[in-house]
Amino acid sequence: MWTANNLWTGDAMAYDVIVVGARVAGAATALLLARQGLRVLAVDRAAFPSDTISSHQIQPPGVARLARWGLLDRLGDAPSTRRVRFDSPAAVLDGAFPAGGAIHSPRRTVLDHALVDAARAAGAEVRERWRVEELVWEGGRVAGIRGSSPGGQLRTERAALVVGADGKRSFVARAVRARAYRQRSPRSFASYTYWAGVPVTTGELHHRDGLAAAVFPTNGGLTMVYVSAPLAGFDAFRADAEANYLAALDRCGDLGDRVRAGARAERLRTTPDLPNHVRPAHGPGWCLVGDAGVTMDPVSAQGIANALRDAEGLAGAIAAGLGGARPLRDALGAHQRDRDRALGPMYDFTLGLATYHSGPAERLFLRALAERRDPAEVERLFGAFAGLTPVNEFFNARTALRLAAARLAGDVTARLCTQPSTQ
Ligand SMILES: Cc1cc2nc3c(=O)[nH]c(=O)nc-3n(C[C@H](O)[C@H](O)[C@H](O)COP(=O)(O)OP(=O)(O)OC[C@H]3O[C@@H](n4cnc5c(N)ncnc54)[C@H](O)[C@@H]3O)c2cc1C
Repeated sequence: MWTANNLWTGDAMAYDVIVVGARVAGAATALLLARQGLRVLAVDRAAFPSDTISSHQIQPPGVARLARWGLLDRLGDAPSTRRVRFDSPAAVLDGAFPAGGAIHSPRRTVLDHALVDAARAAGAEVRERWRVEELVWEGGRVAGIRGSSPGGQLRTERAALVVGADGKRSFVARAVRARAYRQRSPRSFASYTYWAGVPVTTGELHHRDGLAAAVFPTNGGLTMVYVSAPLAGFDAFRADAEANYLAALDRCGDLGDRVRAGARAERLRTTPDLPNHVRPAHGPGWCLVGDAGVTMDPVSAQGIANALRDAEGLAGAIAAGLGGARPLRDALGAHQRDRDRALGPMYDFTLGLATYHSGPAERLFLRALAERRDPAEVERLFGAFAGLTPVNEFFNARTALRLAAARLAGDVTARLCTQPSTQ
């Protein structure tokens, strides 16, 4: 094992890296760093298993990472979903993800706990119910944290790097004055709960003007049913959230009836706290990962897969930098560029989805897709939704031309076939 002792401060440090926050971003970062032999402390004010306000579809690239890390069989009985039904006024499309990809939707109580356990098993020290109160600064760079468990004494811990994996309202980001860029005002609110006796055979995505709904099976035989809509309607919605939630489902075909035929298993969770921003991935002595670095409207359900992807990128950069394979700043800079490049098109696409309104071009596009009845084309669409292919590689003039050409060819063939024979 190599260490970062004396790297910057001249003091012996107990840890190479301290991670603040131990959910999907933090526990994954701690796990991957510990597996590379680094001395890691991860702290979280929560005690696991712990729920959080978030639904939990993990897009196929995130599922593939969990599989690679050997964690896919630790997600309890949450079934995987290989097929999705996309239902909008323009078109209803039913299909699979490319290359046999699947969405998993384990409860956060299960997923986050599995990651915390795996980080511990890899050798990271994980302190639960431990809140960071301040950062330790030395020579203009972050050199550690100060915090405590409830009622306990403040303790100082030092490390070569402090990683903020502490969510969209990140304390670390605030303390280091990380300047947000690509910041956009919140667009949506969301409301979801869990139902028993609402069986689903595919994942469902319903898009209506002014509304989106998602339906995915999760642990314990329950089905998560999620509604989101423009933030402007939040006050009216919350005046009678339960009735308005069901009324929203009634706008999605028979979804309201199917849900009413089941039994609500848990309370309704409703939140308008859905900001959009990107923050730098690193600075002197600090890094940000997961929602602390990138937060976007959950309407496209990318946050968990993004957090896992960025944890992997960051852990690789830290290991290269602290291990001496590459100057740390260069490694972290390259990680930030990769992160932002991977993020860009989906960030814009997500903000577009969060207007809850599709324009004539989008409707034409979807109609042409439905008319084509080509499973490969639907797979490509779902691959773009899932982040398997960059959205701009699907939603572009080339695809539009392909669909238009197919439509034209279909029209010509149909005409030829219906023309009376002249012989
Ligand atoms: C309504 C909603 C629905 C969503 N649905 C989906 C979905 O279906 N699919 C998807 O991929 N994403 C979804 N997301 C996004 C997803 O929840 C986030 O992207 C994801 O939780 C980010 O994980 P994280 O580890 O970065 O941060 P968090 O999950 O926010 O974890 C941060 C952790 O830091 C800890 N912490 C904070 N401050 C301190 C401190 N000072 N000291 C110690 N610990 C601290 C907290 O206790 C917390 O455990 C949704 C989000 C919302 C709000």
